[in-house]
Amino acid sequence: MSLPAQGAIDCDLHPAVPGIASLVPYLDPQWADAVSQRGVHDLESTSYPLRAPLSSRPDWRIQGAKAGSDVAQLGKQALDGFGARAGILNCLYAVTTLFSEDMAAAFARAVNDWLAAEWLDRDPRLRASIVVPIQSPMLAAAEIERRAGDRRFVQVLLPCLSDQPLGRRSLWPIYEAAARHGLPIGIHAGSTYRHPVTPVGWPSYVTEDYVNQAQGFQTQLTSLVCEGVLSKFPNLKIVLIESGFTWLPAYLWRLHKYWRGLRMEIPWVDRPPPNIIRDQIRFTLQPVDAPVDGDALQRVLDQMGSDDLLLYSSDYPHWQFEGQDALPPRLPDSLRRKILIDNPLMTYPRIKEDFA
Ligand code: ZN
Repeated sequence: MSLPAQGAIDCDLHPAVPGIASLVPYLDPQWADAVSQRGVHDLESTSYPLRAPLSSRPDWRIQGAKAGSDVAQLGKQALDGFGARAGILNCLYAVTTLFSEDMAAAFARAVNDWLAAEWLDRDPRLRASIVVPIQSPMLAAAEIERRAGDRRFVQVLLPCLSDQPLGRRSLWPIYEAAARHGLPIGIHAGSTYRHPVTPVGWPSYVTEDYVNQAQGFQTQLTSLVCEGVLSKFPNLKIVLIESGFTWLPAYLWRLHKYWRGLRMEIPWVDRPPPNIIRDQIRFTLQPVDAPVDGDALQRVLDQMGSDDLLLYSSDYPHWQFEGQDALPPRLPDSLRRKILIDNPLMTYPRIKEDFA
């Protein structure tokens, strides 16, 4: 049987921290003591409840443990299973939900050191995003500096629904540090849960939370353009991860229209936003939020206006597709190769160094 993603770079894999005890050896002594003395419980991701069907495909669950907690199984199922040559680990341990800046920084350091020792050292095909305490841009930049020397860390990871719009100047130390080291910023679905996940208040159900993520991504993209992050750091790539992408054509039209009418207030956005976005923004493939039958998807891809925007992802172990159907059917061969291989290599310089 031919593998559906032969030679691919999988840009969204989720390793699970088995439990807080796994991180204790990687915590500073002060925080290791705090975990035992205060009885700190696991930081679970509210965005992906453990037993929710979306959080793991049935055939990727592990009896008695969290899906995604076994490095050998992830390598076998997510890489071997599709023929991928490499994959990027995006650890969603809920560091960004903590209220203490110091505690968030300590847990971010522990998660990154745990990833290096327990995952990257064990499978040479794996790479990882740097988890940062977005609660403190200063401490987040320090963590990027601390980990950037290890070139197996290929990206900086931020949550989609943050405390404030991601374009705000107070967050720019994060972008400066990332740009200095040639690291893309990866923005993944999820929330710090400081604010409702909708603009009109709290919803009741996970379904509502998850569907609304696409609006959150649009808000952040508008902020990154209008506040000037993409103009200030023209070489910075930003990857929207698990965002969906079929909303892009209508969104670009709306942003372009109102930029033309109001651009006097944001003079640093000195060329059409769709051009900026096509140069600097990338999207992971799964979930494909369009019907894959018929020609609807092909029409959306044409309207996106570039073959460079999509990066292959399985989103392992999240349940986004069945069986081996990680790629939409009937993609032209040239586009298929770009999504699987060329676009990830062009987006992640550190992956290109090792896997081109
Ligand atoms: Zn994901």
